[in-house]
Amino acid sequence: MRRPSKPVTVGGVTIGGSSPIVVQSMTKTDTGDIKATLKQIEELREVGCEIVRVAVPNDKAARALAVIREKSPLPIIADIHFDYRLALDALEAGADGLRLNPGNISEPDKVAIIAREALQRRVPIRIGVNAGSLPQEFKPELPLSERLVEKALEQIRFLEALGFDLIKVSLKAFDVPTTVAAYRSIASKMPYPLHIGITEAGPPPNGLIRSSVGLGILLNEGLGDTIRVSLTAHPREEVTAAYEILKSLNLREHGPILVSCPVCGRAEVDIAAIAREVEKVLLKIEKPIRVAVMGCVVNGPGEAKEADIGLACGKGRAVIFKKGTKLRVVEEEDILSVLVNEINAFSA
Ligand code: SF4
Repeated sequence: MRRPSKPVTVGGVTIGGSSPIVVQSMTKTDTGDIKATLKQIEELREVGCEIVRVAVPNDKAARALAVIREKSPLPIIADIHFDYRLALDALEAGADGLRLNPGNISEPDKVAIIAREALQRRVPIRIGVNAGSLPQEFKPELPLSERLVEKALEQIRFLEALGFDLIKVSLKAFDVPTTVAAYRSIASKMPYPLHIGITEAGPPPNGLIRSSVGLGILLNEGLGDTIRVSLTAHPREEVTAAYEILKSLNLREHGPILVSCPVCGRAEVDIAAIAREVEKVLLKIEKPIRVAVMGCVVNGPGEAKEADIGLACGKGRAVIFKKGTKLRVVEEEDILSVLVNEINAFSA
């Protein structure tokens, strides 16, 4: 069961309520380099990113934002720290959303100025609390997860008192149990959508594993309305990983799914090589097709029948299935070409 939430709209993309869980990422270019940033946004769009966040650390970036916003195919969220004037500049530049960190924009009068301007423009604000930027003196008697929650609630109440309710919330830490505990705790304490992620998760594969564990737990409990996988890698990988996590829980359909057996001593053809080639073919396909590449009769026919196109190998030959029906038997040397033809025909 998905946690009910009060939806907000970021540049035409709805987050929360019964909307699909939105995949977002963040550019890693110098935002002041308009060309490089737009190129990366386009790369993100190509892999299915739905909202992109850009850092606005200085005046140059704030000025660039107007051009980026105008040319971007995706809604833009401006990521603001420390200087409230940059938030106002980002709003002026047309940002579709703001991310504010209450750990480092803490002066209430400054936040109030931003909130009034954002409300006038109907621009949502994400209250993005991070373990790394929580003020040390803030409720040190509480466990870290509750300190994250309390800081977010403090900011929520402040914005609500100003009549501002276009809110999303994130509570991020590197530590998975802390992050999970924080989201679980805040889920019933406020009605706003949750942006979820495991911050500073690191490079793949460790970052992927850490993010998958943390986000998997939360999503499986119905927590999370938009997702960002934070990786020390090209942001394309963040988007691909986010969809894989969502597809693993049957929460989104996005492109193909490849089922392939891990291979063992029973395999009598080179399944790993076939799987690698099929993976390359599937990269070019947008349709949500399920393909199974299986090594032998143990699990092969069963998995292959469950797939849209399935391959179950035997000694020197293989059976190809389409939607559960045996299509044909092929000799080993023809397996890959026939399989690829069937995948392409199914996806056309
Ligand atoms: S499908 Fe067959 S070859 Fe592949 S891992 Fe299972 S038993 Fe081994």
